[in-house]
Amino acid sequence: MSGRIPVSVLGATGTVGQKFVRLLADHPWFEVAAVAASSASAGKRYGDVVRWREPVPIPERIAGLTVQESAPPLPGPIVFGALDAEVAGPIEQAFARAGQYVVTNTRNHRMEADVPLLIPEANLDHLALMDRQRDRGWPGAILANPNCSTAALVLALAPLHQAFGIEKLFVSTMQAVSGAGYPGVASLDIVGNVVPYIGNEEEKIERESRKILGTLGPAGVTPAEFAVSAHTNRVPTIDGHLMTVSVGFRRRVTPDDALAALRAFPANPRVACLPSSPTPPVEVETRMDRPQPRLDLERGRGMAVTVGRVRPCPILDLRLALLGHNTIRGAAGQAVQIAELLVAEGRVDRPA
Ligand code: NAP
Repeated sequence: MSGRIPVSVLGATGTVGQKFVRLLADHPWFEVAAVAASSASAGKRYGDVVRWREPVPIPERIAGLTVQESAPPLPGPIVFGALDAEVAGPIEQAFARAGQYVVTNTRNHRMEADVPLLIPEANLDHLALMDRQRDRGWPGAILANPNCSTAALVLALAPLHQAFGIEKLFVSTMQAVSGAGYPGVASLDIVGNVVPYIGNEEEKIERESRKILGTLGPAGVTPAEFAVSAHTNRVPTIDGHLMTVSVGFRRRVTPDDALAALRAFPANPRVACLPSSPTPPVEVETRMDRPQPRLDLERGRGMAVTVGRVRPCPILDLRLALLGHNTIRGAAGQAVQIAELLVAEGRVDRPA
């Protein structure tokens, strides 16, 4: 496979799976060796069965692959997970048992004590948790991406938590329809409308943010001790989750303090060197009407989050707005970045 590392994609026909196919098509280190989905798609040519929604043609070589069943064996040391969460749990475990590293976007294993829930720029040290999965008798491991809104929220807030210590967090989201997969929300429910409910999303933000920003110790991750109140809304944008946030800190923090911390967010060289890592990971906007999904979503090739409107809050300390790409930073792009980390850290061999 031309000196690149073979990888497989589970759920390759879905919204996130297609993003994997697009991002991996010309990746410098990885090459898609297999695409897998449900039994209804298995055995068919990928290009014939996928409802391709990316605004570029399907990569020709991958279009010609035959879709596989989502079960071992599939080729390569790394398997990317983008399966429907209703079926993903035992399938991902089977690949870890078979000795592969599963980098997954599904919710199933995120909160398990031995599964790292990663945003590489925010909690690189949590990667070591994966070694505890040896106790399950697995030669492989499961590594989890956070929920798509949590990924953007926590990357944007990590510099502020590191500098000042978050005590209270209130977030209201405006989440794009691609976050619901395909076909997702019916057009009659979302065109010209806003739906103030996304099943289990608020609970995911509240749990996952505290695990990611928690402290790794001998007993595992102790969740960060801040209170989170999340309000989630589905809005008629296609891609990109916009959020408005109020945040309280353990000490007084001015907007200038926060802007300085966001701009100085240190890029750990072990992460900054990865092909998918954006520089900087957190972009600061000072124009008062930004960030906006249409104008700011592609920053850092969809891997950067944009923070703007940093200003005082009369209830907590500060208010701000932030934007992240839900299928890139919130799903496939960050999963590819985690896989790059496995290679860079020597956990996956590069071809000779
Ligand atoms: P989707 O568009 O609905 O795609 C689901 C995928 O799962 C398809 O490839 C489908 O294959 C496959 N699948 C369904 N039932 C299956 C079965 N019984 N056995 C094997 N494969 C099966 O969903 P998505 O939005 O891409 O999301 C995929 C996962 O990522 C979900 O767990 C979701 O919660 C999570 N996630 C999504 C986003 C986002 O922004 N969309 C962000 C973060 C995380 P067929 O085509 O053959 O049915």
